[in-house]
Amino acid sequence: NGELVSASTRGNGEEGSLITDNAKTFMNIPLKIPYKGHLKITGEGIIHRDDFEEINKKIPNEEDRYKTPRNLAGGSVQQLNSEICSKRKVYFYAFNVIEGFDDINSLSERLYTAKRLGFDICTFFEYNALKHDFDTFNILVNELVNIADETMTPIDGVVIMYDDIAYGKSLGKTGHHYRNGLALKFKEEEEETVITNIEWQVGRTGKITPVAVFNPVILDNTTVSKASLHNISTMQKLNIKLYSKVTVVKSNEIIPQIIKCVGGTSYDFEYPKVCPVCGGKTTFVGDDETMNVYCKNSDCPAQSIRGLSYFASKDGMNIDGLSDKKIEKLVDAGIISNALDIYKLDQHRDEIVEFDGMGEKSFDKLLLSIEKSKNVKLENFLAALGIPNVALSKAKIISREFDGDWNKFETAVTNGFDFTQLDTFGVEINKSIHKYFREVFFANDIYR
Ligand SMILES: [Zn+2]
Repeated sequence: NGELVSASTRGNGEEGSLITDNAKTFMNIPLKIPYKGHLKITGEGIIHRDDFEEINKKIPNEEDRYKTPRNLAGGSVQQLNSEICSKRKVYFYAFNVIEGFDDINSLSERLYTAKRLGFDICTFFEYNALKHDFDTFNILVNELVNIADETMTPIDGVVIMYDDIAYGKSLGKTGHHYRNGLALKFKEEEEETVITNIEWQVGRTGKITPVAVFNPVILDNTTVSKASLHNISTMQKLNIKLYSKVTVVKSNEIIPQIIKCVGGTSYDFEYPKVCPVCGGKTTFVGDDETMNVYCKNSDCPAQSIRGLSYFASKDGMNIDGLSDKKIEKLVDAGIISNALDIYKLDQHRDEIVEFDGMGEKSFDKLLLSIEKSKNVKLENFLAALGIPNVALSKAKIISREFDGDWNKFETAVTNGFDFTQLDTFGVEINKSIHKYFREVFFANDIYR
């Protein structure tokens, strides 16, 4: 109703943090607007380059200065003390109207309307592929860069979105992004750092994945200190060693990746001859293209703990109170080794209530959430199974196809349903689903 009541950061896309007090100190957010109803506007909080340099100049020690306007803006809006934020000269530029102006189906019209109410909006151009050729597109992008340059606005790319909001929504979304637009980054943010350790993580399938641990760097406003190296071949191709100096980027702005080794004094290290968890002998599988190292011990606790923790997770059966720590204890105590054992926990009451941090009450609670988990949605059940290549986002697509009905799904699988018909499903996933149900699910009676 015309008053700023709440502001939050984007966070990881699902959950951000509340920054209402800080937002009120931004240079250009109107605190009162002539509008009745609920209005939700998204945009970018930025610090102009000249203001950024001004702030940095006041810091005598060069090493203590802020790295980029983007990092400083990200840090400023998260300040607990809004007085600090107010000194950072953060500006807000709207780029979308999420709620409100329901009768307007044009993104640009919504933004102009927001502008009339007192918001500053991102600079944008309208591009019509039917009327304009691709050269025009490039000219417009260049023009945006020029404007950003003149207005001291830090820019790292442009976003292209459909103006027709209803049409954009009708395109749906993938696991991570809506399909109504795309981001064009001029250059991926990259940072150099030094690898301080290489960890070997044992996965559900026994695959032991090398993970590089490095001195923390900030990419896309988040601190990153680890990146998977995927397999031994990747490490060799990148020539990665201990204390190598490397360049890190975030691919798709989500997953940290090491893209190259830039030298440094580095040391050779050994590939694991034994599993870091169970001490069992490892085997190397593959060719020069993709060489992997595996723990072949099917009783390896790492494999069952990982699998079980995924099974019980929110994406899976959502068993509240069955934390990784508890699973580890239960596996160590020999009480559970597979998913079915979870449903027999009541037979071990006397033993389990003696666990640290357990007790009668929390055990009863746990049994209750285990009972509740028997009624999860098909998508969560499928995700819980840990079928290779089928995480929750894929499980959702399957579930939608079969109306969330297990019987329909089961019939389809037994009749050799071709999963490549489903959006984003390739040959590999199709194979892996059928292999799983043929060789694991229907072959063992455990999940019945
Ligand atoms: Zn092992």
